[in-house]
Amino acid sequence: MRKSIQKPYDVVIAGGGLAGLTMATRLGSAGLRILVVEQQAHAQMLSTAFDGRSTAIAYGSSRILDACGVWDKIKGESCPIEDIRVADQHSPITLDFESGKVGNNAFGYIVENTKFRAALFERIAEIKTITLACPAVIENITYSDTYVTLTLDDGSMPLAQLLIAADGKKSFCREHAGIKARHWSYNETALVVTIAHSAPHHNLALEYFFPGGPFAVLPMTNNRSSIVWTEKPDTAAALQTMAEAEFVSILKERGCGELGDITCISPRQLYPLRFMLADTLHAPRLALIGEAAHAMHPVAGQGFNLSVRDIGVLGDLIEQRFKAGGDVGTDDLLQRYAAGRYLDHFTFMTATDVLVKLFSNNVLPLRLARRFGLGMVAKIPAAKSFFSKMAMGLLT
Ligand SMILES: Cc1cc2nc3c(=O)[nH]c(=O)nc-3n(C[C@H](O)[C@H](O)[C@H](O)COP(=O)(O)OP(=O)(O)OC[C@H]3O[C@@H](n4cnc5c(N)ncnc54)[C@H](O)[C@@H]3O)c2cc1C
Repeated sequence: MRKSIQKPYDVVIAGGGLAGLTMATRLGSAGLRILVVEQQAHAQMLSTAFDGRSTAIAYGSSRILDACGVWDKIKGESCPIEDIRVADQHSPITLDFESGKVGNNAFGYIVENTKFRAALFERIAEIKTITLACPAVIENITYSDTYVTLTLDDGSMPLAQLLIAADGKKSFCREHAGIKARHWSYNETALVVTIAHSAPHHNLALEYFFPGGPFAVLPMTNNRSSIVWTEKPDTAAALQTMAEAEFVSILKERGCGELGDITCISPRQLYPLRFMLADTLHAPRLALIGEAAHAMHPVAGQGFNLSVRDIGVLGDLIEQRFKAGGDVGTDDLLQRYAAGRYLDHFTFMTATDVLVKLFSNNVLPLRLARRFGLGMVAKIPAAKSFFSKMAMGLLT
């Protein structure tokens, strides 16, 4: 899909992943002229072979997606999470959260990434001020005092007041601007597969912590669930190629025993897991969002939710400036964006990293400490309420 490229734009967004497309709908809904540059072909991005994952969208994120005009398009396709159960392996001490006890809103909603992308593309097609260059690759970037100019692989040179980098973990825009990032591998790989099952899931999300990594069962529409099974890379690779009957039998043992007859209805896909946090969120006429700014372990299903909150804060600042007739790419605006996101990034990135390190091992004192910790949280209402709000994306 390629519309003709006009110039100048208010904002150019590098990357049409979930973060870049959502950012485009937020700013396009406010009337800004936006160009999104994405290197993958549109049709390819809508296939489950490209991305078989589902995303747990926290309740707080659903409200921001509503402001983007996207939530109505995915709500019917998404499955509410009404209860959450967390346990250390198959310990009888479980930590149970019930949404009915925290205000009757679901903790979040599970939606397939392919359906989410389709809804974002549909919303983008409705907004006349958004142009999609797709497939197109950013080959160079030049900055002046007033504009940023991209060079695309078709030779065109669109310019804008601001470049928003949403071009993923290995962000070309971030590296080009010389912004360093802290990153390390968890030496863990997530295997993702969608299953259909004969027994109902009761809208319950399960997460069991095993020494190889967490094992999550996330409820989907129509008696289906999304499995996110984290293991050491070799084990994950073996699970991917194992015969289906054997795989399903291990799956049942791991935590799907109550789901009745199980059939795998998607390919088993692997995602190596890394931590990455950029040293800063901005440079002159450049802002980082999404995985261009931060990538985390999916243990708490919060990576994209953190990005949605980036989009909420940056979107509000840009909209205010745009409506006042000002320049949307100035340093003071970008500094306010970075300041507004620092605490949320620090809290979630640190908490997730600690959680992974505490739970992904079998050292006896840590095993006892986490079982004791889960038992304590289960008994302290204030602690349960804190974690419930965290899951719902309502802490900030
Ligand atoms: C197994 C797993 C489960 C997850 N589950 C959840 C969950 O339940 N909830 C949650 O909140 N998060 C979850 N996440 C995190 C979430 O999936 C990611 O945060 C999100 O997909 C990243 O989106 P993004 O748009 O930031 O980056 P990307 O998806 O990497 O998009 C970047 C885009 O930029 C394009 N691009 C790159 N370079 C260029 C260039 N030079 N020119 C043009 N285009 C370019 C790429 O083609 C790509 O489409 C999960 C992650 C994993 C691995």
